[in-house]
Amino acid sequence: MPSWIPGSYLLREFARHIVGIRAESRGRPVVIEQADKSSWWCRGAEDDLVVTAEIHALDLSVRGAFLDFRRGFFNGTSLFLMPQDREREPVELELERPSDPRCAEWRVATAMRPVAVDERGFGRYRADDYDELIDHPFEISAFEEVGFDAGGVPHRLVVAGRFDSDLERVAADLKQLCETQIDFFGRPPPFDRYYFLCVATGGGYGGLEHRASSSLMFDRDDLPRIGEPGIPPAYQRFLALASHEYFHAWHVKRTKPAAFMPYRLERRNHTRLLWVFEGITSYYQELFLLRSGLVGREAFLTRLAQALTRVYRTPGRHRQSLADASFNAWDILYKPEPNLPNASISYYAKGALVALALDLELRRRGNVSLDDVVRELWRRYGERGVGVPEDGFESLAAEVSGIDLTDFFARAVRGTEDLPLEELFASVGIGFELRPQTGPGDRGGLLRPSPGAASETGQAPTSAAPAGEPPLGLGITYRSRPDGGLELTAVLDDGPAQRAGLEPGDVLIAVDRLKVDSRNLEARLARFEDGERVSATVFRGDELLELGLVLAAAPRDTCWLQLLDDADRDAEARRDAWLAASVPGSA
Ligand SMILES: [Zn+2]
Repeated sequence: MPSWIPGSYLLREFARHIVGIRAESRGRPVVIEQADKSSWWCRGAEDDLVVTAEIHALDLSVRGAFLDFRRGFFNGTSLFLMPQDREREPVELELERPSDPRCAEWRVATAMRPVAVDERGFGRYRADDYDELIDHPFEISAFEEVGFDAGGVPHRLVVAGRFDSDLERVAADLKQLCETQIDFFGRPPPFDRYYFLCVATGGGYGGLEHRASSSLMFDRDDLPRIGEPGIPPAYQRFLALASHEYFHAWHVKRTKPAAFMPYRLERRNHTRLLWVFEGITSYYQELFLLRSGLVGREAFLTRLAQALTRVYRTPGRHRQSLADASFNAWDILYKPEPNLPNASISYYAKGALVALALDLELRRRGNVSLDDVVRELWRRYGERGVGVPEDGFESLAAEVSGIDLTDFFARAVRGTEDLPLEELFASVGIGFELRPQTGPGDRGGLLRPSPGAASETGQAPTSAAPAGEPPLGLGITYRSRPDGGLELTAVLDDGPAQRAGLEPGDVLIAVDRLKVDSRNLEARLARFEDGERVSATVFRGDELLELGLVLAAAPRDTCWLQLLDDADRDAEARRDAWLAASVPGSA
């Protein structure tokens, strides 16, 4: 039984969900004995061996298996034992229609090949080998679906769960996005059918990529309401998720680290390249929203600034390099602890920052861009089924661009200092500024955008306006407790809270002996000045503690971008090239 599912780098030990297992041969029971955490021996089998496993399935995430009377969903990694040394042999899967009358309307959606199925999709499917068997998730429910063509290939948008939206419109937007990505890598795409298997939930968010499909989970309100104009931020979030997972069909499902060829499903598969696959994908997910015409420059730059803000709010970027973050994904990013922001950096967030920096660096110093490198990576490795060696990306970038990038990569990938983004943005006529956070809703964005931008992004873009004194910050992240108080989820290095001795888990109930909550904390702090000492009252477990806090100005950790009117001609030309839309079908 696999210990992990490709695309999600955590040992989940799926065997622990097996609640019963038995074996028989020629209709008679045979001994089945567990050999280790995820394997079994059978003794005494002749000719045939039938192993029956009963599996608990109530994991609502895109990585597991779920079954109740409303919906079934599974990844093969959660369900299928792999006969040892026969993983290259073809596999057939028989899916039976459930007898529960509440499931009478259920149908099946999957990218796996049907062999003999009924009109609802129940029946027999076939995979060429075990690797394919676990790479086609199944959605089984009374979902809604819309088909569309992109790049000459049939696509299906399948949405389960409760939602209220116009799926024809969503499919039209996805078609634009898919066509643009297909044109980027070249027609035809490396799959002959594609499924977006979606589930609309209350507050969930996540995605997982596969060779001919992706599983997407999102908040039901992220889908546009019927008749809603434009692309509001929540819908941008949905489209960015779809864009991310679709890009992975090339970049990580086919172009992949040599360390993943083949996947070794019983243990951690370490690579220092996860940033190349997740960071670059996170950058292109945004670029493709822009290039396909779904969002304009203002919305793109707003989302980019907010992505960069997430990096600048993570002190751990000065402790852990991108290469180390990739290597240790299994035990760091996927096992978050309260000290995570101080000790480590996400290879998604910083990986996207480095992808951006590399793109701008290549555009500034040569006649190439990151596009050329990513496409060549596809041609040389992905298209040919060759794994990318650990130094493969960096050497290819240097080769494609003809530029010596040794210092760039040493600093960006193995170093922990901030990159010169101000300089790089200036080369494309964009101002880059870091400001203190002004309130809980301040995530950075675009300053002084062109007229009409507010309606496009759907949010007030000039909320930065720092009037008067810089705000004070405590250097904490928190969640509101229903019984009052703020539970500290992280205490950031070198912030006032850490210096005063506050710890993650403390429940902050008062500042200056006045009750605080998420709504009044900013206002309470605004009454003091930089350097002033106040009391902080917290519960640590059941002990009430009063600590002396020396207040300090909030750090400059919020990224604001600005389209510069006075950019020189070269910068403006580079900006136009960088932010150009590409019409689907023209490549
Ligand atoms: Zn990803």
